Amino acid sequence: MPDKSAKGIDRRDLIMASIATVGVAVNTGAANAKDAATPPANAALGTVYTGDVIKGKKVVSALDVNDLEPGKKHLLYFQGAEMPTGQHWYVSVTVAKGALPGKRGVLTSGVHGDEMSSVHAVQTVMNQLDPAQMSGTVMAVTDVSRPALESMQRRWPNQGRGIDLIDMNREWPGNENGATAPSRHAGLLFNRLLRPNADFAIDFHTGTTGFEVTAFNIGGMDAPEVKAMVELYPVGQIFDNHVYPGVLHNAFMDVGIPSFTPEIGAARVLDPEMISLFVEGTMNVLKHHGIVAGPMGRTGKDVTVFVGNSAFPILATAGGLVEHLVKLNDKVEAGQKVAIQRDSFGEVVAEYISGVAGEITGQRSDAMSEPGNPLVFILFNKPGPEDVQVYPE
Ligand SMILES: [Zn+2]
Repeated sequence: MPDKSAKGIDRRDLIMASIATVGVAVNTGAANAKDAATPPANAALGTVYTGDVIKGKKVVSALDVNDLEPGKKHLLYFQGAEMPTGQHWYVSVTVAKGALPGKRGVLTSGVHGDEMSSVHAVQTVMNQLDPAQMSGTVMAVTDVSRPALESMQRRWPNQGRGIDLIDMNREWPGNENGATAPSRHAGLLFNRLLRPNADFAIDFHTGTTGFEVTAFNIGGMDAPEVKAMVELYPVGQIFDNHVYPGVLHNAFMDVGIPSFTPEIGAARVLDPEMISLFVEGTMNVLKHHGIVAGPMGRTGKDVTVFVGNSAFPILATAGGLVEHLVKLNDKVEAGQKVAIQRDSFGEVVAEYISGVAGEITGQRSDAMSEPGNPLVFILFNKPGPEDVQVYPE
């Protein structure tokens, strides 16, 4: 039921009034304000142009790639959450619409604002696509968490009670009427841009500031469609785990859209070598779905892949400088010493031992640490589902 305010105007009336005021051109799918306020599951909203143009690119508040001209690349802005000034966060949308119909893939990056190799990987894939030769559509959004990207930091600086930093990869599928901007932004993007245009989706990440990771993919290998895609990447590690609720690839999975997360090395920098592996793997995925023609590149069959279902975390127990005794991708044994830590006098105050046999998948790259910081993650296999540790994506 609508919640009438003291002035007798309910929220829905306000939404309807604002739509009437700005005179939005609306396609049939979003013909009334009720649909606009709460999109029905799985139904396409159609494409809604706000009438705004930014840097020559049209702005949409809903997109159905079926409405775009085939055989062309389309550059658009999507209107995300509203800011305190009343302006909006816009995200960049690139659509390679094939000349022929086919499957629709969605590539995203920038859910965390400090993960630059993920942005570059998506851009590189899009730059390799020729829509005239494609059967199907690929849509990319490279700057999902715009305010986090503006300051190249992991989390969104939300204007709540002062600034609070919110991890947008705990917010999906979001809530268009949520209490925070990232929740609203996630809801708008998921309902009106990402979900309606995805037959499969890949959400690209890297390690985080101060914590470097290897090249690996995170996905639930018990889903055959996910397993088939993940195995097409020539990268050395797979983290076969469902990780957390609230991450973008799980929001896709929850509505029946196969999805997973590549992790491309260190945050803040571009790693061209590692990026090229994920570009090759993603092109393989597009070939697998029949969107792009041509022979497969290198896949997981061409490299040695270590698959683990758990990540063993080693947390600092002291303050001081951390010296790693092993490198990323090294194999370690249970009981092996993997790092030591020295205090300000140079004396060893802690030694860190792996509790499992596995492969190093992440290491703290900031040399100074306080107690509680993750220093090392070791990818390994636990036989049962109980006590499975997860990588903090
Ligand atoms: Zn991330």
